[in-house]
Parts: sequence; structure tokens; C-alpha cells
Amino acid sequence: MRRAGLVVWGAHQLASSLVHPGMTTGEIDVAVERYFASHSAEPLFKGVPGKTPFPAVCCISVNDEVVHGIPGSRVLRAGDIVSVDTGCRVGGWCGDSAVTYPVGDVLPEVRKLLDCTSGVLALAIELMGVRSRWSDVATEMAKFVRDHGFSVVENFVGHGIGRKMHEDPQVPNFCTPHFRRHHDFELEPGLVIAVEPMVNMGSKRVRAMPDHWTQSTVDGKFSAHFEHTVAITEQGPVVLTAAPAAGESVGDAA
Ligand code: MG
Ligand code: MG
Repeated sequence: MRRAGLVVWGAHQLASSLVHPGMTTGEIDVAVERYFASHSAEPLFKGVPGKTPFPAVCCISVNDEVVHGIPGSRVLRAGDIVSVDTGCRVGGWCGDSAVTYPVGDVLPEVRKLLDCTSGVLALAIELMGVRSRWSDVATEMAKFVRDHGFSVVENFVGHGIGRKMHEDPQVPNFCTPHFRRHHDFELEPGLVIAVEPMVNMGSKRVRAMPDHWTQSTVDGKFSAHFEHTVAITEQGPVVLTAAPAAGESVGDAA
């Protein structure tokens, strides 16, 4: 799974180098598609079933778009934020990760949204090493976001990941009594989950757009999304979609 995670990390380095005013979301997607092909990595998003199959290798969601945006002719402008979410399979195993980038200079409140969302992902990964059940992590994630004055999206959650991109369990970024009673799970070695907080500046409410894929905030305010694939090992949590460590390279993946 680390091999897949390294290729996903490399795809994000490429995407991040392309995020600037004047670029279209479709151009970023095409570049990532070529990158996966050059690393013999199978893209996971293209063809995902829906009312129409998902048509691209990345979900690219701009500003008030929360997740599942379809890349295309939209031109990025200074002040936008753009979430790039992508995944691939290498050697039979999957990796999945998302990053939200600022395009040029963004407003201070928007910068705070990005920092809060990447911060709550980092908090969750840290807590995975010291808490025994996901419900305790999720409770602290929701509190962290609330304390920043933002809201956690509840319509979409993270997921187990392995040979398939979406496996059990469901991994919410908030906790309810129902979850704690019926769907909670132990954080034990061998578990691999995609942790992916989605944070809105305003209301948590989202709705699907007419393309049937893109999910946008109901109030039109900005939303951010960060995701890592994380394994629990005997030594603690390991981020499988993180940058290469000493002695590793993305090239090792192919
Ligand atoms: Mg993802
Ligand atoms: Mg995911």
C-alpha cells in the first residue's frame, strides 16, 4: 500500500505545481492521468458508477464545491481554493489522498479554513496513535473544527481502503451516539483507513449539482478537504500517502 501511496503523493506534487491562475481543472486532471500511466498505476476514480460514470482520474472541487467536482474547462483564478482528490492502485493495493490548494493570494479567513482542515487531519492521525476507538478521534476532530468557527460536513465520510478504494468501515469526521453504539471500531494494527475531513466556512449543509457528481455548499461559502491513507502499525500510525522517507522514492513504486 505504501507503493500506491507514494505514487499518489507524486501525483499531488505534480498537481500542486500546476495550480495557478489561468490553469483549467481539466489540464490538471490530464497531467495526473499521464502521470499514473507513466508509473503503471491504475486510476481509481475514472468510471466509478453513478448516474453517469465519473469521467476523470481526479475529483477537482473549487471554492464552494466540497467534493466530487468534475475537472473541465473551469479556469482557476487568484483567490480561489481548489481541492484535488485522487487515488490509484499499484500491485493490487490502493492509495487515496486529497489536498486543497490556494490559487495565488487568498483572503485571511480562507487561509484559516485551509489551516483548520489540514490541522484537523493532522490531529486525527496523531490521535490514532493514542486513542483506542475511532469515536474518540472523531469527537475531538469535530470539536477542533467547531472551535475554529467552522463546520464539519456530515454527508460524506472517510473509509477503509485496501485492495479496493472503498472498504469498511465508514470513517466519519464527527461522532454521534448512534455511531458510538453501532458502528464504532478499534484502532488496532492492520487497520488501514482513508481519513478525509471536509470543512465548511458556513453551514455544514451540502447539495448535489445538476451534473450529479459535484457536491457544493448550500450557502455558497467555501469548503476545504484534506485526506491521507493511514495504516495503524505496532509502531503507531503510518501515513501511506506521505512524502518519501530517506531511502524511498516514487520510482520504487513502478
Ligand atoms: Mg480521496
Ligand atoms: Mg477517500
